[in-house]
Amino acid sequence: MLHNDKLEQWDRESFFHPSTHLAEFARGNVAQRVITGGTDSHIEDRDGNRMLDAFAGLYCVNVGYGRTEIAEAIAEQARELAYYHSYVGHGTEASITLAKMVMDRAPDHMSKVYFGMSGSDANETNIKLIWYYNNILGRPEKKKIISRWRGYHGSGLMTGSLTGLELFHKKFDLPLAQVLHTEAPDYFRRANLGQTEPQFVQHCVAELEAMIAREGAGTIAAFIGEPLLGTGGIVPPPEGYWPAIQAVLDKHDILLIADEVVTGFGRLGSMFGSEHYGMKPDLITIAKGLTSAYAPLSGSIVSDKMWRVLEQGTDENGPIGHGWTYSAHPIGAAAGVANLQLIDTLGLIENAGTVGGGLNSKMRAALTDHPQVGDVRGEGMICAVEFVKDKSDRVFYDAADKIGPQIAAKLLEQSSIIARAMPQGDILGFAPPFCLTEREADQIVDATASAVKAVL
Ligand code: PLP
Repeated sequence: MLHNDKLEQWDRESFFHPSTHLAEFARGNVAQRVITGGTDSHIEDRDGNRMLDAFAGLYCVNVGYGRTEIAEAIAEQARELAYYHSYVGHGTEASITLAKMVMDRAPDHMSKVYFGMSGSDANETNIKLIWYYNNILGRPEKKKIISRWRGYHGSGLMTGSLTGLELFHKKFDLPLAQVLHTEAPDYFRRANLGQTEPQFVQHCVAELEAMIAREGAGTIAAFIGEPLLGTGGIVPPPEGYWPAIQAVLDKHDILLIADEVVTGFGRLGSMFGSEHYGMKPDLITIAKGLTSAYAPLSGSIVSDKMWRVLEQGTDENGPIGHGWTYSAHPIGAAAGVANLQLIDTLGLIENAGTVGGGLNSKMRAALTDHPQVGDVRGEGMICAVEFVKDKSDRVFYDAADKIGPQIAAKLLEQSSIIARAMPQGDILGFAPPFCLTEREADQIVDATASAVKAVL
């Protein structure tokens, strides 16, 4: 199968690739890459090319490739019991054990975890739970959800609406009416020249307060945000941002969803990003790092405060009308259990903090002085380089300049390293597996400096 010489032809004839320029693909202008294997931080394609995957797939293969412990757990689960549902009190050893392991790691004020399959469906679950919650509390008008420009929360109807990137709305008739977008917490790009970080945080808070005043707090149910903006450009929040936002939400009785699909289970060098930045969420979305993508599984972690109301709701209305066939799928759950065990045994969160911290500081040292590098930023095992036409006046490139894709292509061509050109077009992102070694981190920094020099 893997050596079938018709694979490229079948791919073009039959496969609808997500997030792909379909016409350019059909014209043969998008490289077809068939990935066949991987070990630790490296993957291989069918032509035998070995590449350092400095984006861990889609920042999800956190424990690295080729982990036999997880593969064996999946195989054993498939042999014993490939599937049973989790409706009406059913469970499997794997799903119950994973629920316990997740809640042992979650902040103390959280109560239960609901399992889905993807980050998108977990966020859809969150919005339904919030609407249900407000209906049970007798406030059916409190339904709008505030998200941020540049946030990414998925590609469904509601989650695509919450996502604050135009590409995900254009021609899909999104966003839906219940969604509002507020300021992106991006100090480098959005602050006025000369504005300090605390002044910019005050601006974000003022925008939010103005939106709440305009719409009426009685109509706003929740605020959703990634602790650190991911797909929108890998942007850590400005100092003091989350406590300031949290205070506004508390004042107006607005729930907070921490979307930890990228940051959950260690990417920032701590278990959850919400704890790291001082958020007190009512719901936490988890996905990628839950299984390190060895099998699809996601979750919505629900707070004590919400849980009490959900229980009351079922007393009044009967069983909760929400469930997926594959909720808590045993194979995903078995992968999750083995993955979280491996993260503990190998101390991978500590490694994400130390090696990732080194990657960030070395990248900063190597690139900050380059005239076309506007910002180098990150936290733990995630890092970004943002390019600008002119640094002193902060003149930005247009997406059409494709600076990010050009540098990513050069990095791959010169050094066999995969980074991600973020959707804005002028940001290069790195989010390697947590098992990255110091030597590999140095390799990434040197190779990036050389690719930047070759393109700019
Ligand atoms: N939320 C965040 C923060 C994400 O980064 C993503 C995906 O990248 C999602 C939600 C959606 O997850 P999925 O692609 O598994 O649906």
